[in-house]
Amino acid sequence: MYVSDPFIEAEQYRNNLMLQSEAEIRKFYEHSYVIISNRIDRLSDRTDESSVARRLYFEELKGEIQQQLNYIDGNLNTLITGNVNDMIGYTMSVNSAYLNQLGFNYYTTNPAIIADMSNRILTGQLYGGNWTLSNAIWNNSTAIQGEISRIISRGILQGQSTYQIAKKIEKYVNPNYSRVVASGTRGRVDYNAQRLTRTTIQHAYQEAFVRATQSNPFIIGYKWETSGAANVCQLCMDRETTDEYGLGEGVFPKDDLPLDHPNGNCTFSIVSVYSEDEIHDMVDDWENNTGDSEMDGDIQYFIDDLF
Ligand SMILES: [Zn+2]
Repeated sequence: MYVSDPFIEAEQYRNNLMLQSEAEIRKFYEHSYVIISNRIDRLSDRTDESSVARRLYFEELKGEIQQQLNYIDGNLNTLITGNVNDMIGYTMSVNSAYLNQLGFNYYTTNPAIIADMSNRILTGQLYGGNWTLSNAIWNNSTAIQGEISRIISRGILQGQSTYQIAKKIEKYVNPNYSRVVASGTRGRVDYNAQRLTRTTIQHAYQEAFVRATQSNPFIIGYKWETSGAANVCQLCMDRETTDEYGLGEGVFPKDDLPLDHPNGNCTFSIVSVYSEDEIHDMVDDWENNTGDSEMDGDIQYFIDDLF
């Protein structure tokens, strides 16, 4: 029998990280919501409705909201950076434990590899474009402020009072309030932050999984697995069920595993053609220099590549 897929532990770690992060992000927004809400409540007895006073009031309110967004952005940056490092480190440690089971005696992945992978994700090298984590976070705040400006100008056009408009802003920044955003879909103020966080965790998981296994000579490919939930998208369903490379349904060659899409929740498992006993024998042969020279070379390359 082949060793049961060790990366299931990495999946569980990923799932926990996603759940914990979701709750933490909600808390950042709730904290800010309370402060903004208190500020708005102080407005209820206000009668001064001159357009100058009104403009000044909304400018001040937007300034205070910006302070809250800065607070959220800082926390988000720390959270996501930590998540990416933790996810990669954990997946690598799972891989080490798995290699141990196979007879190898290597425990710690070269830390430079982990740092490099984390960097590739956070600086956007992985996406090959202009994306960086700090830009993504900043764009999110800008979009929230843009929506607040729209709420203000719409309110003024509709002849609403300063207080009425401020209450609409209050509702919008409440992370427990979900409003219609586009053609019937609902969204909360923390939607983008949540999506960004989930996506970076997912990509850290996937990158680490591939990096840990890509030069492992006992692994011939990766199987794409959807969560099985009702909301799995068509793209992922196709990836899971198509035998595109003649390796079996959902199996990709190691160099051809596509990067999961934003908000993706699929997982990956390793595919091998050897039994655990066969692998043990090959590892022993490599250690004793008694093996097939090509396999020995591949094993040596794998070990040099990771440790
Ligand atoms: Zn999908």
